[in-house]
Amino acid sequence: MRVDNNNAAGGKKLFFNKETAEKIAAEIGTPYYIYDEKGIKDTVRELKSAFGGIEFKEYYAVKACPNPYIISLLKEAGTGVDCSSYTELLMAKACGFSGSDIMFSSNVTPAEDFELARSLGAIINFDDITHIEFLEKHGGIPDTICLRYNPGGDFRISGAIMGAPGEAKYGMTRAQIFEACRILKDRGVRTFGLHSFLASNMLGDEYWESLTEVLLGLSADIFSETGVTVSFINLSGGIGIPYRPEDKPVDIYKVADSVKGKIEGYCTEKGLPVPAVKAELGRYITGPHGVLVARVIHKKNIYRNYLGLDACAANLMRPAMYGSYHHITVLGKEDLEPARIYDVTGGLCENNDKFAIQRPLPETDIGDLVAIHDAGAHGFAMGYNYNGKLRSAEVLLKEDGTYRLIRRAETPKDYFATFDFPGAEIKL
Ligand SMILES: *Cc1c(COP(=O)(O)O)cnc(C)c1O
Repeated sequence: MRVDNNNAAGGKKLFFNKETAEKIAAEIGTPYYIYDEKGIKDTVRELKSAFGGIEFKEYYAVKACPNPYIISLLKEAGTGVDCSSYTELLMAKACGFSGSDIMFSSNVTPAEDFELARSLGAIINFDDITHIEFLEKHGGIPDTICLRYNPGGDFRISGAIMGAPGEAKYGMTRAQIFEACRILKDRGVRTFGLHSFLASNMLGDEYWESLTEVLLGLSADIFSETGVTVSFINLSGGIGIPYRPEDKPVDIYKVADSVKGKIEGYCTEKGLPVPAVKAELGRYITGPHGVLVARVIHKKNIYRNYLGLDACAANLMRPAMYGSYHHITVLGKEDLEPARIYDVTGGLCENNDKFAIQRPLPETDIGDLVAIHDAGAHGFAMGYNYNGKLRSAEVLLKEDGTYRLIRRAETPKDYFATFDFPGAEIKL
């Protein structure tokens, strides 16, 4: 079993303090998610500034934090949205997105999803060559199409394996990309884009540079094989965040400069028109700016020492699902020595329901609030109802220091809402 050796004291900064956390808890109870408006806005501003000087657009991956208040905040900050399902499209629509401000990067796509995406005028990002015929029947072929490429094999950066596209269900082979370009050109598509997502949560500064190289090389081959010009490359997501205190954050300016450099060099050398750059970042934009706040409701000492929280893996699945590290701060005890080793758990009947395993923390008491860091992407979103556990509330901490409830917590009534069981009226 993996052991976490991080020091809680001097670890990671929070965008709120114990006083604020307790005030919110007094109003809405625990657990809850809290998001930092300023942090999210600043990250978008930096990203846009880093990619200044070229045609660049970020389409926030809605699946990472599907709350319309967060999505609207991102709209204000100037991003588009990347959707992958019917309901994500509905949320994008409700937030006022339409047309080329929506990227639709789906796979195993139901007919009604394509129909809705087309009616909103979204850019369709094709996952498979068979989707051409499918879309023709369900929504029709638009002027602009993005094609998702899967190079197969292993994806390496400087020799090191970073991902295994050959095992991934996404995208099309090289031969299929050429074929798709030919077919779509015949069907009247005028603007082509190329997309690929080859590795996740990448902390080095080289991932997008390597990916740009892959997509530019393919663009040149597409042009010589089919006469189709690729107008934009879609670098998708995959930029990582420093989950561990010792992780070095990605230098987005360095990333942007290397992408711009590759494009300039390549297009000059090959005499190709310079493509626009699109991105579908999720984790990088909101990940560090969301925290799960929970209360210690039990302590248990058997072969290990356990802190039992009122949140569980149903509220934040990443540690249980991937063994992911999420830093934990015991609020109000930031400056104390991490004198104890705890497993920090939720109450699911699953032994993988642990937010941290063998984690050094200060001596912690029942009633303490803990902050589970870097939960602003793929956190609440991956929640579920196993063991009848309920989804928590979400709160937005605004730039002016006030906060707003942006989603109430589920109640048992929500949990039972899809039952209509005759004779068994559940008293709530
Ligand atoms: C999940 C996903 C993203 C966002 O990924 P992050 O790792 O959160 O940046 C972007 N594009 C597609 C197609 C995805 O599936």
